[in-house]
Amino acid sequence: MSVSAVATDTAVCDPLPVLGRDVLVPLVTGGQIDYAALDYAASAPALQRVWDDVAAYAPYYGSVHRGAGYLSQLSTDLFENSRATVAEFLGCRADDQVVFTRSTTDSLNLLAAVLPPGTRVFVFETEHHASLLPWERRADLAVTYLDAPRTPGQAVDILERALTEREPYGPALVCVTGASNVTGELWPVRELAAAAHAHGARIVLDAAQLAPHHPVDLAELDADWVAFSGHKLYAPFGAGVLAGRADWLRDAEPYLAGGGASRSVTRRPDGGVAVDWHTTAARHEAGSPNVIGAYAIASACKALTEAGLENLVAREQALIARLRAGLAEVPEVKVLSLFGDDAPRVGVLSFVVEGWNSSHFAAALSAEYGIGVRDGLFCAHPLVRTLLGGEPDSPAECGAPDAAPGEKPLNAIRVSFGAGTPDEHVERFLRAVGELVRDGARWNYRTEGGRCVPDTSA
Ligand code: PLP
Repeated sequence: MSVSAVATDTAVCDPLPVLGRDVLVPLVTGGQIDYAALDYAASAPALQRVWDDVAAYAPYYGSVHRGAGYLSQLSTDLFENSRATVAEFLGCRADDQVVFTRSTTDSLNLLAAVLPPGTRVFVFETEHHASLLPWERRADLAVTYLDAPRTPGQAVDILERALTEREPYGPALVCVTGASNVTGELWPVRELAAAAHAHGARIVLDAAQLAPHHPVDLAELDADWVAFSGHKLYAPFGAGVLAGRADWLRDAEPYLAGGGASRSVTRRPDGGVAVDWHTTAARHEAGSPNVIGAYAIASACKALTEAGLENLVAREQALIARLRAGLAEVPEVKVLSLFGDDAPRVGVLSFVVEGWNSSHFAAALSAEYGIGVRDGLFCAHPLVRTLLGGEPDSPAECGAPDAAPGEKPLNAIRVSFGAGTPDEHVERFLRAVGELVRDGARWNYRTEGGRCVPDTSA
């Protein structure tokens, strides 16, 4: 099958085409190949629909909440309607707020900033750094890091125990990821929310990896907040979302001080200024809003809903099954997992290859097969180190000899996919893994700027 035939076949049957499917990349061994984007968990390609919607709006672009002109009014409506679309997509309750942020990281830092003084925070050590790290920056928060569970049931038990041991407490927050960015495994969000609420704690769901692959319904999950990023939801225009309970957001100081967050500012008799801050989402959106980012997210929400997220899930499950079955045929490959083979998961999978440095393997996938994956610790260092069996034996570089058999790997390789991924990309990946393990890389590699790259100096 030719490259162009691959792209055409998929375009015909795919209700959610993405950009970039016909992009050609050079191979170090000569020639070009269409790029196999298998790093959706880092940033997914834009949906064609999102791109088209943004392009159609672009000539009408104007300031939001600030102008009297027609395009300002139109842009303001678009921004506020985007908020409503996102609220619907997330199953928000009537009094929830949807705040547009820059990303999941920004959303969780915002939530950390608005927690009532002295809030106790419970967070699993397995979280992505975006949900692991924001809490300790506030000295008045008491953070409890929970050990990695080995089953979803154990996660609930560990949380229950921690919440019970530390009672009584005032405000408390549990932070949990919906789908792991390392293993793709789903966490028992509903059960964790029930445990949190039974002890009077609230819960925030890091849905950065869940929302692009799986329906998220705040009311149904009984979660208090949810955070996600546009660029992982096929809407790469610099916006993210924090949605959920209004009270703590409304009671806290604005995240950023500035125009848009303030209703009125007056001089005080003592010479200072008195500010009347908004009590709506605008309170935490100071500065000119990113209307294109917000509109792109809303467009993606609509596209995913209209195409039927259940269809996306079914297609992705078939690809996951194929991927896992293919990798199971290569004894040198070890797939990383917390919850075991039967755990429900999204299209994200990490693995190591016996005798290989992961950076070397990922570089060869790119340079020799045109396949884009990620290698490293995926901004979840404690989790990946646990899954790899602890701290590395020696800090080898990719130009150095590969890992000796039995040596603890330094890092892992992650493959991830979603809407618009053709079967051929997964098949090419499996073929590449088989060939690299059997025959080795066809090229020499060296380390440059911390990355493993093909050595083209010879
Ligand atoms: N949470 C999870 C589970 C993630 O996978 C990521 C990014 O990889 C983040 C949070 C942070 O997302 P962003 O970089 O868009 O802020």
